[in-house]
Amino acid sequence: MSIFDPPVYLDYAASTPLHHRALEEMLPFLSSGYGNPSSTHQFGRCARAAIDDARDSVAQLLHADASEICFTSGGTEADNLAVFGSVLSADPSRRRVVVSAIEHHAVLHAANRLSDMGFEVQYAPVTRSGNVDLDAISALIDEQTVLVSVMLANNETGVVLPVKKIARIAKAAGSLMHTDAVQAAGLINIDPKDLGVDTLSISAHKFYGPKGVGALWVRRGVKLTPLLYGGAQERERRAGTEDVAAIVGMGAASRLALAERNQWRDAVNQARQAFQDEFDTLAGISLHGETEKRLPNILNYGLSGVSAELLTMRLDALGIAISTGAACASGSLEPSHVLTAMGFDKDEVNSSVRISFGRDSGADVAGQAAKLIAKTILHLRHLRQMPQLHQIL
Ligand code: PLP
Repeated sequence: MSIFDPPVYLDYAASTPLHHRALEEMLPFLSSGYGNPSSTHQFGRCARAAIDDARDSVAQLLHADASEICFTSGGTEADNLAVFGSVLSADPSRRRVVVSAIEHHAVLHAANRLSDMGFEVQYAPVTRSGNVDLDAISALIDEQTVLVSVMLANNETGVVLPVKKIARIAKAAGSLMHTDAVQAAGLINIDPKDLGVDTLSISAHKFYGPKGVGALWVRRGVKLTPLLYGGAQERERRAGTEDVAAIVGMGAASRLALAERNQWRDAVNQARQAFQDEFDTLAGISLHGETEKRLPNILNYGLSGVSAELLTMRLDALGIAISTGAACASGSLEPSHVLTAMGFDKDEVNSSVRISFGRDSGADVAGQAAKLIAKTILHLRHLRQMPQLHQIL
């Protein structure tokens, strides 16, 4: 029986709802504004102007120039373009790629593919609190290194990583530096030039824009081998007729993020605090990841004596949506590579959940949800004492 009606969504790190104003701006491009932006007639020019506006808005969000924004089909493609695109057009004598062990699979699996292609891939370890070990990563970066990729904030723990310091180390060795800022956009100020990176990925659906659209910021002068060949769109970096409505939605979300980000963050802080006030008194729980430098929206808890999978299923039936980790890894039999890299064993990983908040979570609802989650945990722990009952759950 669902207790919360409507159900409570506490999985904003997986995706956020589309902002109504982004939707309003998108709708004309799903109906009358159907021109191909590459066409020179008025239908095409209208679509092109809308893309240009959106590009300006995304550029403003990143303190960048519009020419540095390359639209993609999302964070995954932006990460792949950064990894393959920069490595394949860089100095061919450099054969080493360094990534942190807690990157999103969009970076990790791309790096694995580079390893199949003969590159040497090194995985920088992280500490128990989910931060990249600066000495360890520094030891891996040398004049053989073509690319370093370390995310700005981790999607499972919310820990914010020292990208600026790592970029300095990468630059000193003459290597390119990419950062995946997909989770950070819309919550913290992002300035790629200040970070000192060469490429930076974002994805609209993490900050109240539509799914299926993202962008790679590319520092002027950095060469990229495209992933897609065909037309000359996106300055020949990404061929294919643009998804005008989605790009317009991303532009609107970027403008809203710039204007409303502080309010969003306050609302997120209030909801998360209300949740923690209720939840953190529960015995046998531990908050994973550094407490200082983290995004305000993500909590990752280890819950001793509880199966995270069972808990999320029970909560789903009760009307609360949380997750066992990254959404795209849910359902996979592999335990979280992030928590594993942080040194947690399989049992600890399998009893960990991610709870994430958004601008409209609401402090009252978050507090009530915390109470019910705590109660459900106690219930599951109690049932665990009775193995026969536990088995049929
Ligand atoms: N990078 C990070 C850190 C993410 O959290 C995600 C999505 O979960 C992605 C990349 C992939 O983005 P998209 O879903 O837009 O492909």
